[in-house]
Amino acid sequence: MDILLCAACGHRLTEPVRRLDGMPEFPDWDGLPGPDGQRLPPARLSRGTYAVDPLPHGAPFVPAPKDEEYDGVVPGGKWMSDERGLLVSAGPRDTYVLHPLDVPELVFHPDSWRHIGCCGPDGEHGANRLCPCGAEVAIVAADCTSEYATRFVPDAVRTVPA
Ligand SMILES: [Zn+2]
Ligand SMILES: [Zn+2]
Repeated sequence: MDILLCAACGHRLTEPVRRLDGMPEFPDWDGLPGPDGQRLPPARLSRGTYAVDPLPHGAPFVPAPKDEEYDGVVPGGKWMSDERGLLVSAGPRDTYVLHPLDVPELVFHPDSWRHIGCCGPDGEHGANRLCPCGAEVAIVAADCTSEYATRFVPDAVRTVPA
């Protein structure tokens, strides 16, 4: 088992979690409410586990390469566009993905833009949780339109044996 610590100050950020070999398949919608009664998809990871996602996640978004076949913001992902045309994610790769309930309460990012979503943050607008020291450590996604997961930015954390 491992725990994640803030790389800047050493603050403990997670419960002990066991690393999986890869990202689990996207879970099918089960219609069950989230812990606060919200409309949420099932959590991306099971309690007590984590995985490293090699794909880029969330903001910033950049125009999709012209000659490449477009397959959403990430491969197999949803489509996104703005005045520049179709977009792909240029967000952090290798985020550590956990079940949100394996992450004790973190500090809300003061930038309200980063919490945008329909009934919860969609996790597409950059890090939205801070370590108590102020470091931008995590991206919480908990919306009916998003996955249900807490991701840690790899440059902002380190893993140590629990
Ligand atoms: Zn810290
Ligand atoms: Zn919603």
